[in-house]
Amino acid sequence: MKAEDAFASLTGFQHALAGHVEWLQKWYQAVLHRSSGTVLPPADGEHCAFSLWHTQAAGGPLAEFSGFAALGEEHAAVHAKAEQISARAAAGQTITTSDYETLMGSVLSFGNAAQALEREVWKALATVDPLTGLANRQTMRTQLTGERDRAIRQRLPLSLALTDIDHFKKVNDTFGHAEGDSVLRAVAGVLRGAVRPYDVVYRYGGEEFLICLPGTNAENGAIVLDRIRQAIEALRLTSEKGEPIPVTATFGLAEVDADTSVDDAIERADKALYDGKRTGRNRVVTYSE
Ligand code: GH3
Ligand code: MG
Ligand code: MG
Repeated sequence: MKAEDAFASLTGFQHALAGHVEWLQKWYQAVLHRSSGTVLPPADGEHCAFSLWHTQAAGGPLAEFSGFAALGEEHAAVHAKAEQISARAAAGQTITTSDYETLMGSVLSFGNAAQALEREVWKALATVDPLTGLANRQTMRTQLTGERDRAIRQRLPLSLALTDIDHFKKVNDTFGHAEGDSVLRAVAGVLRGAVRPYDVVYRYGGEEFLICLPGTNAENGAIVLDRIRQAIEALRLTSEKGEPIPVTATFGLAEVDADTSVDDAIERADKALYDGKRTGRNRVVTYSE
């Protein structure tokens, strides 16, 4: 999910909700104040702006959330109930308090489903770094601890790496902060594209990233990271004026095991990273005592 897309789609969502409330008000007023011969406004969902939105949004970022389908179902339930009431009114039958109560129940469930979806989106947005689209540090510790527990349980290796862009201050100073941001996005893109689906890349700090490699020991981790290092070096980025922006990054790697906590491993990866910087940059260094 791209955070900006999900954020932008929240506005359409709010409008759609307002559209549904507007439909409900109109229909409800007409039902309440009907007299014989009154033609009630349509009660089916097709005539509610919300349905149109939901169909269109099915191809967008909100559809990835579990609350999206649930909300569609709650919406359909409101309209199904309204259609029943409309049909009875049209047939000249009495609308009972219990009819209204069932309808209100559906309306409330719909409202709750809308809030649940919104909460789900906000929660996801809070864990995504808006500049790079990578995970941020919000849930990193919890997730890494989970990965460590799993690795120990399954007796599989687990490696963590820290990477820091080389001489990034110079990129900002020479080309400006906006170009610096583009470089960050490009490096993040390489990292995301280079790892396997179950690896996770976090934006750890300004121009620092943390890479979690489940099922990978230090030896294989170093091979993976060196491939990524080469891909970053091979980026041919240019400034808006067309000047080449050289980019390299240094990597520090440490294995996590039953005797090494997540914090220990991060500290070790950081030490290895520091060694890599000290010994010339654009390198992968594995922690050793
Ligand atoms: P080294 O090779 O030792 O890592 O050198 P460096 O210049 O990269 O070192 P340092 O870590 O001191 O500099 C990081 C710079 O990254 C400083 C900061 O202004 C910049 N930075 C941090 N976050 C952002 C960001 O979001 N966008 C941009 N454009 N720059 C950022
Ligand atoms: Mg740094
Ligand atoms: Mg740096």
